[in-house]
Amino acid sequence: MIAMSLSCNPEILIADEPTSALDVTIQAQILDLMKDLTARLGTAVILITHSLGVVAGMCDTLCVMYAGRVVERGATEALFAAPMHPYTQGLIKSVPRLDVAATGERLSSIRGQPPNVIDLPDCCPFYPRCDKAMEVCRRKYPPSVDFGASGGPVAKGHTASCWLYSEAK
Ligand code: SF4
Repeated sequence: MIAMSLSCNPEILIADEPTSALDVTIQAQILDLMKDLTARLGTAVILITHSLGVVAGMCDTLCVMYAGRVVERGATEALFAAPMHPYTQGLIKSVPRLDVAATGERLSSIRGQPPNVIDLPDCCPFYPRCDKAMEVCRRKYPPSVDFGASGGPVAKGHTASCWLYSEAK
């Protein structure tokens, strides 16, 4: 499938969960193959995945989506180092880590369930699951804040849609 999709030298390859249901050895081989071929052909890749490990190893830029919208975006390394949106923070905390497992600490999880995307509210859709939710979060959808633009500690172009960082409440 990858050979077929790259045979016409596309400028962009959209790979939707290309390694799901594969064991980790084959997964690593497929990802190496994709990296090598796309680098040689100069193809940009949009990789859609639930695996943060795959993202960390493959992507330059990361968009975190919740309820069908991008809620955080930034350079992958910067975003892993300083996740700003509570959903991204929850996702990263819920990845099992050997050093934490050795301490006997329970694995963190995000409580609740995702919303029904057919009937989304006008407010922040993460509101019922967010530990940092405020009154404004259930009234209005949060604007996107660019942290780099404000000269903060996060890389330029790093944005998040969250009322925690907006002064326009
Ligand atoms: S806008 Fe409010 S509810 Fe939504 S993620 Fe930010 S703090 Fe949580």
